[in-house]
Order: sequence, then structure tokens, then C-alpha cells
Amino acid sequence: MAIERTLSIIKPDAVAKNVIGDIIRRFEENGLEVIGTRMTHLSAAEAGRFYAVHAGRPFYNDLCAFMSSGPVLAMVLEGKNAVLLNRQLMGATNPKEAEAGTIRAEHADTIDANAVHGSDSAENAAIEIAFFFGDLDLHSRL
Ligand code: ADP
Ligand code: MG
Repeated sequence: MAIERTLSIIKPDAVAKNVIGDIIRRFEENGLEVIGTRMTHLSAAEAGRFYAVHAGRPFYNDLCAFMSSGPVLAMVLEGKNAVLLNRQLMGATNPKEAEAGTIRAEHADTIDANAVHGSDSAENAAIEIAFFFGDLDLHSRL
């Protein structure tokens, strides 16, 4: 299994619920290391650039409005198989379909307010990490 990096975002709903620590604990307990963090409040335009791949989808405007509705915590996770492992810990996009014990099953209310973002491939992870972080912001312990 390759060592990978992936981007996680704790979305405005989960930040507002004060469950940042619970979410990071799940990453750490499953062998992922947090190598960079940044709390920011995205503008709608910035959220639109981050989610440009979804431009034109029916939920795009609501997604951009939601992602800019409050502060988020972006972080880079590093570890074995990090992209897929993070997706497994997150659970399905729609929390109603998320497996019990996953972050979205525990903390998400709706498909819009679904607690976390996670990169879906190593290629997209590199693009998404560069959106929030520069090389000097990342501190690998490998
Ligand atoms: P994921 O976040 O699991 O990678 P997607 O990349 O497909 O999911 O979608 C990005 C985000 O857009 C989702 O997390 C969710 O908040 C929102 N979204 C996706 N599909 C829908 C939908 N059918 N209705 C409303 N919001 C959606
Ligand atoms: Mg996605």
C-alpha cells in the first residue's frame, strides 16, 4: 500500500457542532497523520472554484452557499492508502446511506450538510491540497 496524502475539510455544519476533535481523533486512531491544518471562511466564489468539477450540477449553487456559510477546517492527512481510508472513515455522501460508525453517519444531517469533504483520488488530492496549502505548510513525519 502506498503512502498517500489526501485533503479533508471539516465542513461548516461540523465546525458549528464543535466536533472537530472527534473527527480528527478518528483519523489519528486509524493511522492517518495530520500534516497541515488551516481554518478559513471561504467566499462563495472560492467555494465555487474548489468545487468547479461540479459546476452545472443542480446542487452546485446550494453547495457553494453552504460551504461559504461558516468557517471550515481544511487539513492534509498522510498515511498508507490515505485517499481510500479517508473515504471509508467518512461514509457515503448521503448520510442516510452512510455505514454505521462513519463520520457522516455520526455527525451529518443531510446530503448538503454532510460534515466532511475528502478527495476522491490521489490526482484530485494533489490539486485540492494545492488549493489550500503550500509546501512550507506541510510537515510530514515520515
Ligand atoms: P463527496 O463529498 O462524497 O465526494 P460529491 O463529490 O459527489 O460527494 O459531491 C460534493 C458535495 O456536493 C457532497 O458532499 C454534497 O455535500 C453535495 N452533493 C452531492 N450530491 C448532491 C445531491 N444530489 N444533492 C445535494 N447535494 C449534493
Ligand atoms: Mg467528491
